[in-house]
Amino acid sequence: MLSLKNCTFCGKPVPMGEGIMMIRNDGAISWFCSAKCKKSTLVFKRDPRKLKWARSKK
Ligand SMILES: [Zn+2]
Repeated sequence: MLSLKNCTFCGKPVPMGEGIMMIRNDGAISWFCSAKCKKSTLVFKRDPRKLKWARSKK
């Protein structure tokens, strides 16, 4: 019963117990093969509106 998840960021298979699981607000589960991929996804996922908001505040 070996179930592999794919890294949400790079698409590589994530071995059970080795990846990083992240549950999003909408209930969807994201898997990452490494902290680097998780970080990258979070950076890319950073709401552009927030950036805009932050910029307009500048
Ligand atoms: Zn990855």
